[in-house]
Amino acid sequence: MPIYEYTCNECGKRSSTFYKVMPKELPANQECAHCGSTETEKVMSRAAYVRSTASRHEASGDPDAPGYDYWRDPSNIGRWAEKRMGEAGIEMPDRVKEMIGQAREGEVDKILDKRGLD
Ligand SMILES: [Zn+2]
Repeated sequence: MPIYEYTCNECGKRSSTFYKVMPKELPANQECAHCGSTETEKVMSRAAYVRSTASRHEASGDPDAPGYDYWRDPSNIGRWAEKRMGEAGIEMPDRVKEMIGQAREGEVDKILDKRGLD
């Protein structure tokens, strides 16, 4: 899941934006989720990670499919997401909660079957 993080110049907090697929062009000034200011700067260190994730998605030919590595250890999914979201100081989107819930209930096996991993 491509994630972009922005630091707000007004309140100093971080905001995260989730993309299902890699956008062709990112908005120059992402709105701060905390104070609504558009005086934000992209956190560059995260962009490198995001690019590699997007490349994997493109290679799989299915932009909606989560990367295999991401699902490999279902017990890590919730922990990772909660940690990242907690660090960013933002609430976890419903879509993420849903994915974690599915993974914890064993839905991850069905997802892997569907993808026909070799
Ligand atoms: Zn702000």
